[in-house]
Amino acid sequence: MPDRNSGSAIDAAGAGLLLTGIERLLGDGGLLTDPGLLDRYSRDWTGKSACRPVAVARPRSTAEVAAVLAHCHAEHWPVVIQGGLTGLVGGSTPHPGELALSLERLSGVEELDVSSGHMIVRAGTTLAVVQDAALGQGMSFALDLPARGTCTIGGNVATNAGGNRVIRYGMTRSLVLGLEAVLADGTVLTSLGTVMKDNAGYDLKQLFIGTEGTLGVVTRAALRLHPEPPERLTALVALASFGDLVALLATLRRILGPTLCAFEAMWDSYFECVLVTNQLARPFSARHAFYALIEVELLDPAHERDRVENVLFQVLERGWARDAIIAASLEESARLWQIRESAGEMLGKLAPTVAHDISMPLDRMESFVEELRVRCDSLLAGRPFCAFGHLGDGNLHLFTALRSPDDAEAMDALVYGALAGFGSVSAEHGVGMSKKKWLGVTRTAAEIAVMRSMKQHLDPRGILNPGRVI
Ligand SMILES: Cc1cc2nc3c(=O)[nH]c(=O)nc-3n(C[C@H](O)[C@H](O)[C@H](O)COP(=O)(O)OP(=O)(O)OC[C@H]3O[C@@H](n4cnc5c(N)ncnc54)[C@H](O)[C@@H]3O)c2cc1C
Repeated sequence: MPDRNSGSAIDAAGAGLLLTGIERLLGDGGLLTDPGLLDRYSRDWTGKSACRPVAVARPRSTAEVAAVLAHCHAEHWPVVIQGGLTGLVGGSTPHPGELALSLERLSGVEELDVSSGHMIVRAGTTLAVVQDAALGQGMSFALDLPARGTCTIGGNVATNAGGNRVIRYGMTRSLVLGLEAVLADGTVLTSLGTVMKDNAGYDLKQLFIGTEGTLGVVTRAALRLHPEPPERLTALVALASFGDLVALLATLRRILGPTLCAFEAMWDSYFECVLVTNQLARPFSARHAFYALIEVELLDPAHERDRVENVLFQVLERGWARDAIIAASLEESARLWQIRESAGEMLGKLAPTVAHDISMPLDRMESFVEELRVRCDSLLAGRPFCAFGHLGDGNLHLFTALRSPDDAEAMDALVYGALAGFGSVSAEHGVGMSKKKWLGVTRTAAEIAVMRSMKQHLDPRGILNPGRVI
């Protein structure tokens, strides 16, 4: 059997035998080989570097995942793991000769316990299904991001997804109580404990959170739930300076405490571009330098709505804010959130574009954006350069519309090169293929060497998502 990790051509007879073996393991509909059906599995959301997998294995149980991996391990067959394919760094896009392992049939909620505040779900369950199941019982699964209808819990765990409510609930890591994962050789590690305290030796679930499928396939997750607040208040605040934005965040945190669950910042460059490109209604009559979209959990709506309104009123009176809208209905709240959440739609319309997801201390952010804007001026030639982000957690997103896709690399060099010594090249989307080259900006040589030795130990034949991350 040829070594497929080196990307060598596949021996057709050997491939046929392997696929027959997998088909036998998975039964009807478990293995897709028809080229017409494979296209859907050939790229992630970015659409870049599309490549058809040799076939798609679609196991329905942990035992089937284990059997497929044991088979591939024995034959040194490289596997790319796929959830909802909403990833933005090329981690789930197949490379030539890879078998795609899709978790789409391993889905569903197995258990939901309101009194202890947990649920157990299969990895291919979409985030929206998990959120709705929790809501149906008066509970909340606090992870939330615009791709909720398509991304899966397995993908969320593998990328340690962040999203809109990190300032209140942390990233996916802090919402995972236990995991079940399958190692490259088919060994099943089941650690689906649902209690918060469990210090019995190494916390092995951490091996699979944020490691982008390079160390194992997540098959089930025990997730932490919180009570759903009776009401959520959404407000959009317009501000004159970055200093005012930071002051508003500090004030809201001090007065509202943990009930402040989202604080999304938008530079005017982003705000104007998304309104025009996506033809959204203009919420304010005048333009402002910055905007903050905030969400507050109202535990006692009758009193707390007044409290939040008073805080915003004071902020306006003191001149820290120029204007503010408090959503009066769920529809208005959705309209305000659409300004922030239709970033992906805008990106598609402005192609060719390049997006960056980075993080840094708040006191570096304003100058970082301004200096970068000056340095990339010649690449832009008047096209949009948009800044926005989750801010409260130091996360900055940049969207740049390019003259040509060939300029993307030069833009990467400008953005990632400028982060050396203080920032992260990946705040929440992971490394995948597209940031691999830049990992050394954020991680030391010693850290990368430890990552490689962990990979070597847990996946000695390099069959899981080979070539991604490190
Ligand atoms: C419009 C839009 C908005 C987004 N907003 C955010 C945001 O706010 N915050 C954020 O963090 N991300 C965001 N993302 C990125 C993306 O949604 C997340 O990275 C998400 O967690 C990926 O889930 P998925 O199921 O689509 O995974 P995929 O894209 O299928 O895979 C992502 C990575 O995880 C691996 N993987 C998938 N499933 C498993 C598994 N079961 N076991 C092991 N490895 C696995 C894949 O191999 C790949 O490396 C956004 C994406 C889009 C398109």
